[in-house]
Amino acid sequence: MKNSVCVDIYTPQIKKDECSFFKSDNIDVLNVYIKLYNAGFNVESLRENNKTLKFQNYSDDGQSGYRFIDNTIEVPDKIYKDTITHELLHCASTILDGHAAHVGLMYGDFKTGELFGLCLNEGMTATLDLELFGDYTDTKRENEEEVYPFAKRVIEILELIVPRHTLDEAYFNSDLALLIKSLNKIRHNENEVFAFIRDLDFVFMYLDLTHDDVPENKRRKFEKAWNNVQYFLADSLYICLNRYYEEGMIDEEELLDYLEECKTILRAHIEVGGQKITKNKIRQYKKIEENYKNRKKDA
Ligand SMILES: [Zn+2]
Repeated sequence: MKNSVCVDIYTPQIKKDECSFFKSDNIDVLNVYIKLYNAGFNVESLRENNKTLKFQNYSDDGQSGYRFIDNTIEVPDKIYKDTITHELLHCASTILDGHAAHVGLMYGDFKTGELFGLCLNEGMTATLDLELFGDYTDTKRENEEEVYPFAKRVIEILELIVPRHTLDEAYFNSDLALLIKSLNKIRHNENEVFAFIRDLDFVFMYLDLTHDDVPENKRRKFEKAWNNVQYFLADSLYICLNRYYEEGMIDEEELLDYLEECKTILRAHIEVGGQKITKNKIRQYKKIEENYKNRKKDA
């Protein structure tokens, strides 16, 4: 019974004047959470986290953030309206278990401070935020274009590789393992899947998070990580597309479109802080190129 559960969701235990979020009558945490619940969120973590959720308000122009360690949303006054739903998505998808934090598609370790799956998690959070709350303010949809564009693109491609409902289910239940299992059905190599997620996080740090130059001593590592990410995505996409085509799920025209997508991924030039990162030259590219040409000839 959906409705009876929603009524049971607590509002955060905070003083109303602690944050402008609650000074404003037109924003309602409960309504946000009901929307998340209806989208399929894990009700228990929604309810539990909401009980103890705290807000820290900053008057400066810093960035918003969610600290899973003490269940706190940091949100500067000036941007709270545009960013609060993103942070509430983090809060709603967090499950703490001993020294482990499961946050959407990310795993965090309190002891070591290690984060795993940061890129996937931010990409999925930004994607859901746009889908569920894109019209929350007049400017949100427009501003959101700039939020983690690389990570969102990765999610877009992953949606062609694993079913979208698997991504949702993994995120809503803070279950990265489910996504890993799903990717492993295609790769048959768990180490490769883990390496992909780790490489994604490394690339994400420079492309979306800091926009810093890759330091000289990290450039080789960056290029290797970037190549691995491209290879993993394009090769997985290639495997899936052929399967979809053989099973009649997509037609010739769609296959050609998607194969074009594979090529785009592999050919991508990227720049970090104005420095060009070299293009990937991997064997798989040739395979996809040949396949693409053959299909085109037959079509
Ligand atoms: Zn975030």
